[in-house]
Amino acid sequence: MIDLHCHLDLYPDPAAVAERCEAEGLYILSVTTTPSAFDGTEALAKGKSRIRTGLGLHPQLAHIRRGETGLFADLLPRTAYVGEVGLDGSPECRPFWTEQKAVFGELLRDCERAGGRILSLHSRRAATAVLDALEAYPKAGLPVFHWFSGSGTELRRAVTSRAWFSVGPAMLASERGQKLVAAMPVDRVLTETDGPFAIVNGERLMPWDASLAITGLAKVWCRPVEDVRVQLRDNLRRLSSSA
Ligand code: MN
Repeated sequence: MIDLHCHLDLYPDPAAVAERCEAEGLYILSVTTTPSAFDGTEALAKGKSRIRTGLGLHPQLAHIRRGETGLFADLLPRTAYVGEVGLDGSPECRPFWTEQKAVFGELLRDCERAGGRILSLHSRRAATAVLDALEAYPKAGLPVFHWFSGSGTELRRAVTSRAWFSVGPAMLASERGQKLVAAMPVDRVLTETDGPFAIVNGERLMPWDASLAITGLAKVWCRPVEDVRVQLRDNLRRLSSSA
């Protein structure tokens, strides 16, 4: 099972969650929201062969943590994965749009200089702006849109720009989310949870709840669960071989 976007460090007992992920054989991309969280979060993956740690600077924190872009550049050689990064155009984040764009541009430029990374991207109400930024830094790496919620037109543009997508139970619970997922190329989709932020049926998602995304995908794709598992495993193999 695969959780390509969760925040291990933000669970109340992160070490216990990491242990269970390892015991259950889960493949995890453990993303961070600030560069200063990277060291501690990477330590959770120590001795665990299937957990990768992403170096991130979340767009909702860009205006507060702008001073950490230097640390981002310093830490970048230590990982093939960057996330969570991106832009957020929702009303509460709009006041900091200029700072967000400046920070995201700086991070993408650093990724280009470092030879490219796999990018776990936040694009809430900002898919067009994120796509524009990726076009401005075409060698920043392989984009993976996490919880994509843009328009059908924005999705088509992302697909054309060879982007990947990670989809979770919360997204698959809505009809709109299902429609978007149905329009994604099956060979560029992976599962995620966005735990502990994402909530389904009043419960905070755990990484192993990625199983709910597998059954959700089986419905959207009209394929047996076992087929979906094989497809996702194959997708992960191709994604990680590009790291
Ligand atoms: Mn997230």
